[in-house]
Amino acid sequence: MPELPEMETYKVLLEQIIGGQMITGVVINREKSINVPIEEFTRKVLHQKIESIERRAKYVIFRLQNGFCLLLHLMLGGWMYYGTKEEQPDRSIQVQLSFQDHHLYFIGLRLGYLHLHTPEMIWRKLQHLGPEPLDPNFSLDAFFSIFQNRRGGLKTTLMNQEVLSGIGSRYSDEILWHCQLHPKRRINELEPSGLVRLYGSIQSILQLAMQHGGYMDPLYRDDHKTGGYQMFVHGVEGKNCSRCGNMIVKADKMYFCQQCQL
Ligand SMILES: [Zn+2]
Repeated sequence: MPELPEMETYKVLLEQIIGGQMITGVVINREKSINVPIEEFTRKVLHQKIESIERRAKYVIFRLQNGFCLLLHLMLGGWMYYGTKEEQPDRSIQVQLSFQDHHLYFIGLRLGYLHLHTPEMIWRKLQHLGPEPLDPNFSLDAFFSIFQNRRGGLKTTLMNQEVLSGIGSRYSDEILWHCQLHPKRRINELEPSGLVRLYGSIQSILQLAMQHGGYMDPLYRDDHKTGGYQMFVHGVEGKNCSRCGNMIVKADKMYFCQQCQL
């Protein structure tokens, strides 16, 4: 499932290609991917300019000229492609937004969705999310005040969207490998120095992943930004740890190195 680095990459690229553009066509092939009747969705979205595009946690929000917003969550298996009719991926398209002769295809939206909301509804839906880990206000002090008194396992806590937003199964593995902490360790067992390392690795891994465009497939034909991030541990069990050479293992949906993560 795409996490903060992938959704931030999508956000930046979408701003460049469709920011300020008018939606000239709407096709809904799967009504369950939206939250209102097709007719209402089309009426409120068609001929609207995209005023701005934002990301919060794993969501992307398209703000339309008329005040309505589209809230996108790709969930498991969802992705996007932008191109002409000839470049359309040979996959079933659930939702398509057109911009003249180019189209933004939403693919694999089974659990994922593109919902139409007012800004108030968006605020209400997202208000329970924890802080953005790369927000300049999310200082080491702010991190300590949240993590100091928690008791859960490290990986589970990192993935809890109400504690911290945007990190999922993939980057929690990567972060814990980076700070050499075992994913099953409990937060309350950590020394303050361990928490400092964890904070640093959250920043480093998310920044690194964003610099390399996360792990998703390209958004459009000449997209050289998306998908350059190479995983240290997630999804590469059986390979050698790039730090100590020991074999990466997978247990209980966690990927880690038994040798150098304690
Ligand atoms: Zn190792």
